[in-house]
Amino acid sequence: MDDAQPTDQTTSDNTGKKKGAYVDPATCIGCTLCTQVCPNVYEMQDDGKSKAVNPTNDTEEKIQESIEACPVDAISWKDVE
Ligand code: SF4
Repeated sequence: MDDAQPTDQTTSDNTGKKKGAYVDPATCIGCTLCTQVCPNVYEMQDDGKSKAVNPTNDTEEKIQESIEACPVDAISWKDVE
C-alpha cells in the first residue's frame, strides 16, 4: 500500500506536532515584511494581507525572524499536523 502524503511539506522530526507560522488577518496591516524575510512561507493575498501559505517552509530561525519583524505582532506560532 502506498503511503499517503498528508501535505506537500516535509516533516523534519517525528515528535508529532510541528510548529508553523500563522498570520492573524485581522491584525495584519499588509506591510509585506514577512514575505521579504520568508518568501517561501508567506504570500500576499488579494485582500492585501499576508497569509502563511506554507507555514513550515523555512527554518525555525527564519520564521522566528519573520515573527519578530512584523510591526503589529500579527504572526504567531501554531501547531501544524
Ligand atoms: S509583517 Fe505582519 S503586518 Fe506585515 S504583511 Fe506580514 S503579517 Fe502583515
